[in-house]
Amino acid sequence: MNLKKNDIVRLNIVDLTSEGMGVGRLEDGFVVFVSYTAPGDVIDAHILKVEKSYAYAKIEKIISPSSMRCESNCDVFEKCGGCLFRHINYNNELMIKKNWVIENFKRIGKIDIGDIDILSANTEHYRNKAQYPAGYDKDGNLRFGFFATHSHRVIPSSNCQLEPEFFSDILKLTENFCNKHQLVPYDDETGVGLIRHLYIRHGKSSGEILVALIINGGELPHEKEYVDTILSSKLNIVSIVLIQNKKRGNTILGDKSKTIYGKDYLTDVLCGLSFNISPYSFYQVNHDGAELLYAKAKEYAELSSTDVLMDLYCGTGTIGLSMAKNVSKLYGVEIIPQAIENAKNNATCNGISNAEFFCGDAGKAAMELASKRISPDVVIVDPPRKGCSAEVFKAIQQMSPNRVVMISCNSATAARDAELFQNIGYSIKKTIAVDMFPRTGHVETVVLLSDKKVDGHIDIDLDVEKLEGKSGTAT
Ligand code: SAH
Repeated sequence: MNLKKNDIVRLNIVDLTSEGMGVGRLEDGFVVFVSYTAPGDVIDAHILKVEKSYAYAKIEKIISPSSMRCESNCDVFEKCGGCLFRHINYNNELMIKKNWVIENFKRIGKIDIGDIDILSANTEHYRNKAQYPAGYDKDGNLRFGFFATHSHRVIPSSNCQLEPEFFSDILKLTENFCNKHQLVPYDDETGVGLIRHLYIRHGKSSGEILVALIINGGELPHEKEYVDTILSSKLNIVSIVLIQNKKRGNTILGDKSKTIYGKDYLTDVLCGLSFNISPYSFYQVNHDGAELLYAKAKEYAELSSTDVLMDLYCGTGTIGLSMAKNVSKLYGVEIIPQAIENAKNNATCNGISNAEFFCGDAGKAAMELASKRISPDVVIVDPPRKGCSAEVFKAIQQMSPNRVVMISCNSATAARDAELFQNIGYSIKKTIAVDMFPRTGHVETVVLLSDKKVDGHIDIDLDVEKLEGKSGTAT
């Protein structure tokens, strides 16, 4: 079939890609990707773009809806790009995500993990952090919202279903303040404008709230009034921070900050421990989901009181510290200095004296620890989306722990890394998915690797380029 832009074609949606695109096939097998469809839908699709072996389309008309469908409860679903699954009921979302993990392990890691479980804690209002870019609305008012998918157009936020409802109170107060003083939203194309982002973080257990305003300048006009404005919300605001970011580009946080009210951080309670978290530090966005995830990691780690535990990519130390009392010694490694500062304080505040934290690249620091003959019984890795570095594998190969627990927010790189762990002698014992980010296109995977068979000295080809080149698509 000679498919062209603006053609309308009838499609059965048979699958969903890991980016959440529905997959339909024309009679000759030509693939058409249609966003916001569900497997089982029969639709008329409006062709948007034709490539050599596939095309993109949008829904023209739903002829017969899939039984997976439900009503979306968000006004800006499909516009803001934050959620992928508001049109699919949650049980089916879980099934789809679980299959993403299974399929990625099969396709990328060449590993059959069989059927796995998927856990979930909560589905709505679970996010404890929001970062809203500023822009103008059609009436010329400064608004905070979300960037539309693949663009820098701001969609004003209207009661996001993923966030606590009171986030919009802080957002509106900040918008009113900015508009009253005619503060200009930042435009990355021109580099002009003061107000870049509004950042809100909430400690789900403690109830504490931190508000940060990211500005393209050194000063916020009427700073004191801004503090009073935010405090007038009568919410449990413990910290207001101005963060200066004068750099062009997508990076949200700049490196200079000034606390204009309260503490420099907020405190939250996770797994029974108290954590201080600066705006710069990574902190799991779903508190209850994180407790579920950490409980699984702890179960998989099978710790005993004589064990030495190493927590690589440790952030503010939350995972390792939640297990510190079950082991004789804990080492944590993380690249962000503020997070390591937080981790050290977090150990002290919780009366934990068997933990040591190092700031640096996980691979390099682990190699250094390995060269000092530190030999952990268990290593936990929780890398960012791109997965573990080659040096991490080399260090683990050298340290030869009995068990490795891999936590990953990207099942594609988790699958690749699981294969590499197999190459250095580990076997996959258990795998589980945890839906930390319901309604979005993300899912967390936890893998237990153990029974190391190969001698730690066997040199296996683990060059970085090969690692980076195989990182695959994100889930
Ligand atoms: N385990 C933590 C954080 C996991 S997110 C938790 O559960 O809260 C991944 C962490 O890896 C982030 O804190 C990020 O700053 C850190 N990171 C990214 N690249 C790194 C690197 N090369 N070396 C060490 N840490 C790194």
